[in-house]
Amino acid sequence: MWEFTKRISLLRVSTVILIIFTILSISIIQQCGNKIQEGTMLNNTFIKSVIDEMENKFGKDNSKRIKTGVTQMQKFWRIEDGTPEDFEKFCFDNFIADKEIIDKSFERLEVAFENIDGLLVELNRNLQWNLQVDTGPILPVDYLTANFDLASHVDEDLYKSKVAFFILLNFKVHNLDECIKYGEKWSRRDWAETRLAQKFTARVPSDVKQEIHKAFISADNYINNYNIYMHNLLSEDGKHLFPEGLKLISHWGLRDELKAQYDKEGGFPRKRMIYEVMGKIISQEIPEVVINNPDVDWKVSTNEVYGENISSSKEPDTRYANLLKVFNAEKAADPYYPLYPTFIDRRFNMDREIPENVVKQLFVDLLTSKEFQKTGKLIEERLNRNLEPFDIWYNGFKGESVYNEDELNKIVSEKYPDVKVFEEKIPETLMKLGFDKETADFLHSKIEVDPARGAGHAMGAGRRLDKAHLRTRVPEGGMNYKGFNIAMHELGHNVEQTFSLYRIDHTLLEGVPNTAFTEAFAFMFQGRDLEILGISEKDEDKEYLKALNQLWSVCEIAGVSLVDMGVWHWMYDHPDCTPAELKNATIEIAKNVWNKYFYPVLGHKDATILAIYSHMIDAGLYLPDYPVGYIIQFQIEEYIKDKNLATEMERMCKLGSITPDYWIKQAVGESISVEPLLKSARRALKFIH
Ligand SMILES: [Zn+2]
Repeated sequence: MWEFTKRISLLRVSTVILIIFTILSISIIQQCGNKIQEGTMLNNTFIKSVIDEMENKFGKDNSKRIKTGVTQMQKFWRIEDGTPEDFEKFCFDNFIADKEIIDKSFERLEVAFENIDGLLVELNRNLQWNLQVDTGPILPVDYLTANFDLASHVDEDLYKSKVAFFILLNFKVHNLDECIKYGEKWSRRDWAETRLAQKFTARVPSDVKQEIHKAFISADNYINNYNIYMHNLLSEDGKHLFPEGLKLISHWGLRDELKAQYDKEGGFPRKRMIYEVMGKIISQEIPEVVINNPDVDWKVSTNEVYGENISSSKEPDTRYANLLKVFNAEKAADPYYPLYPTFIDRRFNMDREIPENVVKQLFVDLLTSKEFQKTGKLIEERLNRNLEPFDIWYNGFKGESVYNEDELNKIVSEKYPDVKVFEEKIPETLMKLGFDKETADFLHSKIEVDPARGAGHAMGAGRRLDKAHLRTRVPEGGMNYKGFNIAMHELGHNVEQTFSLYRIDHTLLEGVPNTAFTEAFAFMFQGRDLEILGISEKDEDKEYLKALNQLWSVCEIAGVSLVDMGVWHWMYDHPDCTPAELKNATIEIAKNVWNKYFYPVLGHKDATILAIYSHMIDAGLYLPDYPVGYIIQFQIEEYIKDKNLATEMERMCKLGSITPDYWIKQAVGESISVEPLLKSARRALKFIH
């Protein structure tokens, strides 16, 4: 289920435009000098003299603010921004001592940013319209307009126009520690000011940005072209175990096929073979010639390849060379983030806003829980054999539906013959979920439904004059059940987006802390889809199975995340390593995590399987977002379960984008915790056999 929040769409830097602009501007930048020394042209003696003189003018009462503002500006001022005299003049002309003027300036900036962000969202949506909305055949020009992206220039333009420096001079940039330490005592206005100032915590030169972009593109290409032709795999006795034409991408495709084998007769040897392939990808013992190649047979156990004039030489650690490229590109940006000097800092303290030690503890709590252990035992009984490492993808906790898919399709297609009807019925849908008529009508007036080319997505507005958009696909003859189920998910996103923009006290706090929070609401809507269709299906077993399935899969991804985190720390400790050294370290880290947390549940010492995830290579420490997201989502869903979804959701959405932990404390009355997930697994373990 993919969803477009405003933040995501703004972060999506358009490839083509970025590259063109960077190439054009590289010579200019080089002349101006783009290295970190720019900041140091304002030496500390000079800065001190500016502060002293400002204190003389504005009074000692303002000392603290002056010092904060001037040093914050110093960090980002470059030669092209002006001479030291210009710097000093700017400080004197723009430092605001008068409380009333500060208030007015803040209000105007809030309006300005609602417009900047909101108009960029709107522009972006319009330029992508023909690619995303079903408007007939796509024309070549549609791809060109879709690549036009003003957003990628906005940050630097805000520095150039000195808006950024005004903010840095007058508002304090708090780091995550301070937000956690003082945030609960701050007023909403304090929070909004903090978010305003935090827009300017970095000024990364465009050539450094371009290198990062290139490294991710290259890693992405590597991953996206890493397919295994399953028919070519030979078992020990020379048999093909998979059907002709089955081509699977690593690791998603391989993993999903492995999962599907739980439902198939004789799936065990196929699961084991996929597992073996994964191991060879991790260790890079896989013959290079079998990757993305339909023409070569490969006996996996012995690594023999069959074909004319081919070599069986191994993949030359390309997997790890790509990861290393990503690391080096991100590391080059470190000096430009004074508050977040490593990429690990940026992922945890800037993007996620949950400290790394807190995240790690959540994972350890899950992985060392009795519930994880007992669920493992239960799976062993259900499978009637000893567990294998690949059983981290056990697929058997599933309930059965009262209605089959055909029956559901019929009900849905009659009820929703086209997109227009789905839109008209939004108030009715929302009222079934517990919203009163007034709120349902209000939400309806802010959500537009468009026919999607893809499966569907939700796109929030960025300013209050705009509307959220729900994209859904309705085939000829009416909506089908799958489409309806996804549309309900997207409606959940849209309702969150609308509440957290329109009903928020400060638009600078618009939104939710991160995607986990909006996903929680989307899944709640999606999970009540049968209710909307007027089908009541109370199946307690299904709830229990869901809880166990959640726990098992969150544990799997938590283990994978610990490997990802360990590998990034290792790279920072060994910045000059070779791909081969990185490979060995990754394997060691994966084994350690396995032996510590998974071996007690699944056995098999030294399994390396946790290192197979492709996101580890091409997503830059993104993996921990999954388990953290599931944990938060579960907490919100559990809390709302026996309450009115409508009132609770509106209350929660109005909290806005404060830190995740403070948000969840106000929303459900406790910190981020794995306890609700463990509790429901505990309950389930009593009933499921
Ligand atoms: Zn979603």
